[in-house]
Amino acid sequence: MSKHWGGRRAQQIRAKLAETLPTRCWRCGRLVTSDMAWDVGHLLEVDLDPSGAYDPDRYAVEHARCNRRAGARYGNRKRSGRRGSHRWTSRDW
Ligand SMILES: [Zn+2]
Repeated sequence: MSKHWGGRRAQQIRAKLAETLPTRCWRCGRLVTSDMAWDVGHLLEVDLDPSGAYDPDRYAVEHARCNRRAGARYGNRKRSGRRGSHRWTSRDW
């Protein structure tokens, strides 16, 4: 998650999205169930409009793996994250 994202409101949005499970991943269109790893997907990049960062309409459920895949596109901020073996800079899609 980026610096813009976090805290109580972020948790509330996540909780709200959790209630919609199972639902479709907005990135790949496949089902996300509550026993899968999922993330809060940003329909708009928060960087572009920080004032609306916590508007629930801007978020959707996505697979954790789809989230990471998208993250690679934006470069390197998240590189220090979990799972060191993951190649953030590669494009395998
Ligand atoms: Zn997905």
